[in-house]
Amino acid sequence: MPKTINFEEIQNIILSHKDTAVKLKRTTYKDRIKKLNSIVSYLQDRNNEQRLMEAMKIDLGRHTVEVLLSEIGVINNVAKYIKRNLKEWMKNERVATSISLLGASSYIIKEPKGSTLIIAPWNYPLQLGIVPLCYAIAAGNTAVIKPSEYSTATSAYMATMIAQIFDPKEITVVQGAVEETKILLDLPWDHIYFTGSTMVGKIIMKAAAERLSSVTLELGGKSPCIIDKSANIASVAKKLTWGKFLNNGQTCIAPDYVLVPNKMKSSLVAELKKEVKTQLDPKGVGSQANEDYGHIVSDRHHSRCVSLLEDAIQKGAIIITGGEYDAISRFFAPTVLDNVTDDMKIMQEEIFGPILPIIGYTSKEEVINIIDNKPKPLALYIQSKDQKSIAFFLENTTAGGTVINDFMIHYANPHLPFGGVNNSGIGKSHGYYGFQEFTNERAVMRQRFGATSLLHPPFTSRSEKLARILGKWLS
Ligand code: NAD
Repeated sequence: MPKTINFEEIQNIILSHKDTAVKLKRTTYKDRIKKLNSIVSYLQDRNNEQRLMEAMKIDLGRHTVEVLLSEIGVINNVAKYIKRNLKEWMKNERVATSISLLGASSYIIKEPKGSTLIIAPWNYPLQLGIVPLCYAIAAGNTAVIKPSEYSTATSAYMATMIAQIFDPKEITVVQGAVEETKILLDLPWDHIYFTGSTMVGKIIMKAAAERLSSVTLELGGKSPCIIDKSANIASVAKKLTWGKFLNNGQTCIAPDYVLVPNKMKSSLVAELKKEVKTQLDPKGVGSQANEDYGHIVSDRHHSRCVSLLEDAIQKGAIIITGGEYDAISRFFAPTVLDNVTDDMKIMQEEIFGPILPIIGYTSKEEVINIIDNKPKPLALYIQSKDQKSIAFFLENTTAGGTVINDFMIHYANPHLPFGGVNNSGIGKSHGYYGFQEFTNERAVMRQRFGATSLLHPPFTSRSEKLARILGKWLS
């Protein structure tokens, strides 16, 4: 168990971070890149890598390949991308000046926000703390990371890692649960970067409002997958099985439920059954015996998944494949459900587990209605070869991000903003957008020979004429 931390200790941390933040403002891109390099080198060390693999096994039963790709690989790529672009991002940005302000020049300074708090969830427990940290460092901030209390082995790993690399007066990890987070939230952060559920996101935003700290809220929600009649069902089923069941469905942008034309439902069901077996039970001994498959993070989340399944079955859902679970090992089989209706709990909250409801539809309008009746999703997936159909679904829905004919790959493109919309999130991250979230874009205007003094009082008929002319130009 991590040592509990009290208000005084946390307050001392933020006081020291406030002092450090002033100094960090003057750091160069080279200073910041050095810090990013130290994170990458730490993770490249074979002993450190081994300890991380062990921690991930304890927390989520993760296979090495998954950890290499979705934790270490993601952090490396983010650090690499930042290093390639940081010099450019940090430069003052010259902008045009309106003609009515002739004689002045304008530019934007990219200054760090200051002392920042990063609150991370448990599903990708290292990278969801370290990736925002990379952007906080790139923008020149101090940071406190509060990892999740549900992934304690990885949280402890992160605390050791950060303590070995950084001065705690600049970057530190505070382990703990809700109590510790509440204490942290009671402090005057310049920015809070939260990744987690919509429900807790609201608590974070309320607390931030007390101090008027700016926030990034990377939240969750129900991300639909729309299959239209032109889609290649075999190819969709292959990608869908991967997207849904990766990390036991505990991925914020995992497809939550599927909408498929009624006529194509039976072929989707058959292909999904086949793919679940091929990908998650290749030896035919059951997915529980498959070491690659992993488990649910905690007893609480396991019983939440069980109750979603039981409620659906009770209200008429049919299990196509899966449905088995084991509370002791927190195993939950990859499960596909048919006959799902909107009154089931499984259609009302984010599933965040390995259960895939399939819903048949007859018209596109029906699809829009189902999606519109729920909060705006973090991701929306369209599987179609028909341009008109793709355009229809794009125009009639909204989402933080959309992938056409695949799943989740938008997360890996740093040229795209990543984030939600309203209920699924506020603010964007990744690439320049990540740097921007931790940056105060300070507007600077420098006056040289401008004639604004002609408009100072006392007003004359000449100033009135000038005001009329400027009024036209300004509009
Ligand atoms: P969570 O909201 O329960 O917890 C996230 C963090 O908030 C944890 O560090 C936790 O200690 C803290 N917390 C929990 N309750 C709190 C409270 N009452 N007051 C203050 N702090 C509190 O989320 P989770 O279960 O860890 O993660 C799953 C959720 O995160 C899902 O909804 C998922 O979609 C979302 N998520 C979003 C993204 C994204 O990038 N948008 C990425 C991963 C996960």
